Amino acid sequence: MTATRIDGKAFAAALRERVGSHALDFASKAGRKPGLAVVLVGEDPASQVYVRSKGKATVAANMESFEHLLPAETTQTDLVALVEKLNADPSVDGILVQLPLPGHLDEKAVIAAINPDKDVDGITPTNAGRLVLGMDAHISCTPLGCLLMLREIYDDLSGLDAVVVGRSILFGKPMAQLLLAENCTVTMAHSRTRNLPDLLRRADIVVAAVGVPNLIRGEWLKRGAVILDGGINRLEPAPGASKGRLVGDVAFDEAVGHVRAITPVPGGVGATTIAVLLRNTLVAAHRNAGLAVPEGI
Ligand code: NAP
Repeated sequence: MTATRIDGKAFAAALRERVGSHALDFASKAGRKPGLAVVLVGEDPASQVYVRSKGKATVAANMESFEHLLPAETTQTDLVALVEKLNADPSVDGILVQLPLPGHLDEKAVIAAINPDKDVDGITPTNAGRLVLGMDAHISCTPLGCLLMLREIYDDLSGLDAVVVGRSILFGKPMAQLLLAENCTVTMAHSRTRNLPDLLRRADIVVAAVGVPNLIRGEWLKRGAVILDGGINRLEPAPGASKGRLVGDVAFDEAVGHVRAITPVPGGVGATTIAVLLRNTLVAAHRNAGLAVPEGI
């Protein structure tokens, strides 16, 4: 059996298209575009590139982009004051503070300062609590992207055995909550889990959120399982190459002959995150403006 490669780029392009068209409708009703503010502290070039690509994608989806690139020595007071200013700005629907912050800043306090209604990254305690309680919540973009892709594969996830490997606040934990809300039987694995291969052999769905290259071997996976590989790991460069290859947490070449469908790395889960961020901003804009959230988004 050769598995279907789940095309994260195509999924993201279709989602961006839908979001862009709903954003135009929103502008005609609300008299303004949905707005996303991204805050980056420090001069890390990779993060700057990432923030710029978010900005371009925001504009391409017919939304307003506000970029705040702050120096590494920004104080806690100034950063929280900016977050509070964005909270109060009616043209800003979503606020994303790029993490990690430089070590002298209190990350938890900055996150807690974000208005939960504008927390399109789903990182505030309020949104984490809302997710657990089954209330409307902004949900972290990577796990939500995984769920949206699973919904395109399965009409109904009820009763399926799902294993989420990794329990981080932004990925593994919300992923498990989302699958539980879909009536999956969910197991969460982590670095202390005993006998991961045995758990995975039973799983209809595996979400890998670890950050260890090729940790999950093909023979550990059930025939017919669906695998979402969130890992983004750069290998050591081959002799003569300037950069190493990107691989996931799942040994793709082994798994692909074994499972029903799998996301590649790159071009899988990672390709969906910005599109989901725009989707969350569109949803926030509708809620903030008192308009009904478009269906099927
Ligand atoms: P993280 O905070 O470092 O968490 C990693 C998790 O993996 C932890 O819960 C850890 O367990 C678990 N783990 C580590 N070694 C393990 C092992 N040998 N067996 C089983 N579990 C193990 O990482 P993260 O932020 O969730 O990111 C995970 C991966 O997803 C990374 O490659 C990251 O680059 C990627 N990612 C991608 C996106 C995207 O696609 N846009 C977004 C976020 C993250 P303990 O809790 O016991 O330590």
